[in-house]
Amino acid sequence: MGNQELIDIAKRNFLANYRQAPIVLVEGEGCRVKDADGRQYLDMCGGIAVISVGHGHPKLVRAVAEQAARITHTSNLFFNQRAIELAAELAKRTPFSRFFFCNSGAEANESLFKLARRYHYERGDKQRIELVAANWSFHGRTMGALSLTGQPKYHQGMEPLVPGVRHVPFNDITALEAVIGPQTAGVLLEPIQGEGGVSVASDEYLRAARKLCDQRGALLLFDEVQTGFGRTGRFLGYEHSGVAADACALAKGIASGIPLGAMGVVEKLVDALPPGTHASTFGGNPVACAASLAVLQIFDDEKLIDNCERVGAYLGERLVELVAGAPALLEARGRGLLRGVRLAPGRDPQRALAAVREQGVLLSIAGADVLRFTPPLCVTRAEIDEGVAAVERVLAQGLV
Ligand code: PLP
Repeated sequence: MGNQELIDIAKRNFLANYRQAPIVLVEGEGCRVKDADGRQYLDMCGGIAVISVGHGHPKLVRAVAEQAARITHTSNLFFNQRAIELAAELAKRTPFSRFFFCNSGAEANESLFKLARRYHYERGDKQRIELVAANWSFHGRTMGALSLTGQPKYHQGMEPLVPGVRHVPFNDITALEAVIGPQTAGVLLEPIQGEGGVSVASDEYLRAARKLCDQRGALLLFDEVQTGFGRTGRFLGYEHSGVAADACALAKGIASGIPLGAMGVVEKLVDALPPGTHASTFGGNPVACAASLAVLQIFDDEKLIDNCERVGAYLGERLVELVAGAPALLEARGRGLLRGVRLAPGRDPQRALAAVREQGVLLSIAGADVLRFTPPLCVTRAEIDEGVAAVERVLAQGLV
């Protein structure tokens, strides 16, 4: 079946919650994907920052197949070898010594929410129930993660939200200072707001957040779902600022397309969630953990985080040049291979996205008006040139 036939079925049988491009992706290799009509695209979207090692990486494919043949699920009534190995490996690469595995970014943030409240509860500080998060943040779609998300458009029609969340302007130290108090359990921030429009947290902001949390007894929590696993040119996005959190959420690139999420915490939080207080049936699934272990091995073998830093810097330069020559673009933003160009007021991002896709390049939209580039971390300079050239052509044709 081709694109249209499949989409006709989808229109009959899917809920209407997604705004999907009219193509059905059926296979991929490296930074290229193919649709059901056999057309190839350069994938500068990477499954929205998920495909960290490229499509169809043979080592990842082998790890998944071998693990699936061995054992696919154990439940958390028993230990499983791959989850143990993955936790140990993550502990070597991050400031976190303890991990809880789940299946998505939203679940990882739900876990942070519960961890923050329960940590203080266990210490007898029962008034610390509030979470502080930023305007324009995105933390996921489940009710806790949605309540943490600082974008009212996602809240519409979903209220009442989980109580006890306060939002403050992003990158505003004074606002943070005003809101953290004896009622604050934790402050949750993204080192780069990805869905919010690729806005980078300043180093001073993250440092101030750390200091205020320390002074006032709140936990500092980072949502590294989009920035983690090498995406910014460091293993975790916070590393650019030198400020570590007490706990963080991971997902997206963690297993390069196999569903997996994680919460990492520092040692002092080891008892924050006593037995029975939190769990996930599929969390730490051996196949997903085997995929994540393969991702880490591929990062090391192919120096993909270095590649991300180098090629990401090149993408940044190309986007700055692009903006300089195009009145339709306002600004280039981001770090590593999480970057975007902001469209000038009145430009239609959906139209721009479709026009670039017609040129054979896949991008995504972040925030209200940012064309986002999140290719696999194995992307080359030549592929970056190809992707940027497609945007250039579309600009020249007046389609942005
Ligand atoms: N947190 C951040 C920073 C994200 O970018 C996303 C997804 O875009 C999420 C959380 C939610 O992740 P998931 O869709 O896997 O639940």
